[in-house]
Amino acid sequence: MAETTLFTRIINREIPAEIIYEDDLCIVINDISPQAPVHMLVIPRKPIAKLADAGEDDKSLLGHLMWVAGEVARQAGVAESFRLVVNNGLGAGQTVFHLHLHVLADSQADSKSSETFSESNI
Ligand code: AMP
Repeated sequence: MAETTLFTRIINREIPAEIIYEDDLCIVINDISPQAPVHMLVIPRKPIAKLADAGEDDKSLLGHLMWVAGEVARQAGVAESFRLVVNNGLGAGQTVFHLHLHVLADSQADSKSSETFSESNI
């Protein structure tokens, strides 16, 4: 049987996290080690190890995760400027093998439209 992932343990409330949003398909938490003023993780309840492991039947779930990223960005007031990052595999820097989307933003970005959001380590 597959090992329970860190994020499944957060979803099951076995490990504490700052939960920003949740629905029947996914959860959004604040990253414990933020690489930007706004750094949220959109995590499906289904423990797909990495993006490339998603199947045909996961297409609508993947679309939903993208929509939720936009929704929580709107709620955080950063809808005009944010980055969405998915690390797929060890070589790409993935450390938690439960698919997740990083939503990264400068919380001031909406009020500084001429400035771009700087690169992070993600
Ligand atoms: P990745 O390197 O793409 O797999 O991203 C994993 C992310 O999970 C990193 O940005 C970590 O800081 C974050 N992370 C690890 N443990 C926790 C935790 N307990 N709560 C919130 N975020 C976490």
